[in-house]
Amino acid sequence: MKSLFRFGPRGLVLAAVLLISNYAFSWGLTGHRVIGEIAQQHLSGKARKEIKKLFGKESLAWWSNWPDFIKSDSTWNHASRWHYVDLPGHTSKDSFIDQLKKLPGKNLYTQIQDLTAQLKNKDFPLQQRQEALRFLVHLVGDLHQPLHVGRDEDQGGNKIIVYWFDKKTNLHTLWDSMLIDFQQYSYSEYARLLNNTAGKEQIKQWQAGSLEDWFYESHVMSDSIYDATPNEAKLSYRYNYQFQHVLDEQLLKGGLRLAALLNETFK
Ligand SMILES: [Zn+2]
Repeated sequence: MKSLFRFGPRGLVLAAVLLISNYAFSWGLTGHRVIGEIAQQHLSGKARKEIKKLFGKESLAWWSNWPDFIKSDSTWNHASRWHYVDLPGHTSKDSFIDQLKKLPGKNLYTQIQDLTAQLKNKDFPLQQRQEALRFLVHLVGDLHQPLHVGRDEDQGGNKIIVYWFDKKTNLHTLWDSMLIDFQQYSYSEYARLLNNTAGKEQIKQWQAGSLEDWFYESHVMSDSIYDATPNEAKLSYRYNYQFQHVLDEQLLKGGLRLAALLNETFK
């Protein structure tokens, strides 16, 4: 969805039209809910208690798409850049991290850190901390959508046309929602299924590492997606077969790491 918000008012009109035509954005509804639901299952007692003070009875999955919904509210225009970063493809890790840290303005990387700090600070007003938590749930999800950590020249795959079972779309949207919707699970079915596949050791390993490690991993994943998906590619069953495990792993990692981040924040 990001490209639409780079064109000011004209982009917003286009966005509205696309929304009416059932356009989905950033991981889509299901992807963000899957990540929220998996995280919910891995919260510490302390984190669960603190989150309850902010969300009441509503779950992480419940709030996970709010930062996309508010894109239609112009008072939140400044937040549209928080959902992604763009960096050159096939970069070494050191160079990637160096460039990530130097990106101008607020973005996915700066905001995950800012919002975590806001959540930690109990002197901040309740509403601000509630909004910080809603964003954090969503943005840790976006971080695990490889094309939200993609390249600038094609706007995270938005400019790469692909055909998904003959339906014309773009690479970004394919990864936001179409590939997920193709699996035909509800978000709770999908979350349960993925949750059951991870062993204790694997969970520990995925939850380890720094924020920069997670960004680089997602970016490397985007390299392999770009390499396998040229412009005008006609994709169907084989592509799903090739990438389904990547999709599943990104959703599961997103949920586990969101839990790790929240457990650390509310320690
Ligand atoms: Zn998003």
